Amino acid sequence: MTRTIEDLIPDYLRGLPVYVPGKPIEEVERELKIHAVKLASNENPLGPSPKAMAAARAVLGDSNRYPDGGTKLLRETLAERRGVTAEEIFIGLGSSEIIDLAARVLLRAGWHGLTSEGTYAPFSVAIRASGAELVLAPQREFAFNLQAIAKAITPKTGAIYLANPNNPTGSAFGREEFEEFLAAVPDGVLVVLDEAYIHYAVSMGLRDSEEAYRTRKNLLILRTFSKVYGLAGLRIGYAIGRPALLAAMNKLRTPFNTSGVAQAAALAALDDGEHVTRCIETNAAERKRLSEGLAKLGLRPVRSEANFVFIVVGPDAKALSDDLLRMGVIVRPLGWMGFPEAIRISVGTTEENDKCLSAMAQVISKGAGKGELAAR
Ligand code: PLP
Repeated sequence: MTRTIEDLIPDYLRGLPVYVPGKPIEEVERELKIHAVKLASNENPLGPSPKAMAAARAVLGDSNRYPDGGTKLLRETLAERRGVTAEEIFIGLGSSEIIDLAARVLLRAGWHGLTSEGTYAPFSVAIRASGAELVLAPQREFAFNLQAIAKAITPKTGAIYLANPNNPTGSAFGREEFEEFLAAVPDGVLVVLDEAYIHYAVSMGLRDSEEAYRTRKNLLILRTFSKVYGLAGLRIGYAIGRPALLAAMNKLRTPFNTSGVAQAAALAALDDGEHVTRCIETNAAERKRLSEGLAKLGLRPVRSEANFVFIVVGPDAKALSDDLLRMGVIVRPLGWMGFPEAIRISVGTTEENDKCLSAMAQVISKGAGKGELAAR
C-alpha cells in the first residue's frame, strides 16, 4: 500500500482557508523597530478588570492541579445571572470552541450549514470542517440579510450561524427583525447567535436574547469573556442552550478545556460591573471620535455597533494597511474575509485612535493607496 498520511486528510479539510490572525504587536515592533499600536483584533484596549487580574493571580499557585472540568461555580453563577439552569450553560475555550463544537455535533456530510457572506470566517470553517456543505446567503449593505438567510433554508439545513453585531462589518439587527427571522426557522434547525460584541451595541436594546431563547428550543446563544471583559488571552466563553445539545458538546470537548485561572478571572470579571460600564462608555465615545475623524479624512466608515469600524477604501486596501503598519498602526485588511477593498480598525484608547487618525491622514495626503480611496 502506498498511501501517505497526507492521503488520509479528507478533501473538505484540504480546501479549508487558514485563519489569519492580526499581526502580533511584538512582531511588528521587532521587525520595524518602532512603537506600534494594535487595532487589528477587536481586543479591549482598557485591559482586563483589575478584579479579574487579582482573582487570576490568587489561583495561579494551584496550577499544579487540574481545573474543575465541569466549571460548576462559573456555570451556576452565569445561570443565575441569565435566568437559566446550570445545565443550560456550556463553558468553552473562548466562543471559538463552541462555534466549532456546535457544527461537529449537528452537521456532517449530506447536511447544509448556513451563514452569510461577509461574516466571521470561523463560522464557514466550522461548517466545512464538519463535512457538511457551506451555504452562504448574500449580505445587504454590509449587514445580515435575515430574509435571504431564511429563504436559503432547506430540509438539509442543520445549523445557521449569525453574529450580532457582525464581525467584520459592525452592523447589527434589531429584536423585531430577529423575531421575524426565528419564526421562519423550523424547530429542527439550530440558530447559533454569536453575541461576542453585544455589550457594545448600546443603542440597539438587544441585550435580552434570553427572551427569544425561552420560547425557542433551537437557539444557541454565544457570549465571550474576550471582548468587554478584556480576557481574550485567557480563552474563555460560554453558551446558553438546551441541555441535550450541550451534553453532546460536552462529550466532544477536551476534558479540561478552560483553565482554573481563566475560570477564576471570568467569575471575578462578572462582578466588576464598573469596569464593564467604563469599557462600554469609553468604546462608544472613542468609536464616535474615530468614525468622525475618519469621515473628516474623506472616508466613510459603516455605522458600527461594535468595538471596531469597517471602511471600504478601494482596491488599495492592502497597500493602505501596509503603509499604516510601517507607521506603527496595525489594522486589518479584509481580503481574506471576502472584502478585498475594505479594512477594519478596532477602537483603541484615545492615544491609539489619535495615532491611527494621524497616520491615516499622512498616508492619504502622501497619496499612498494611490488616490484610489473609493469612499472619497
Ligand atoms: N465571535 C466573533 C463574532 C468574533 O469576532 C470573535 C473574535 O474576534 C469570536 C467569536 C471569538 O471569540 P473568543 O475569543 O471567545 O474565541
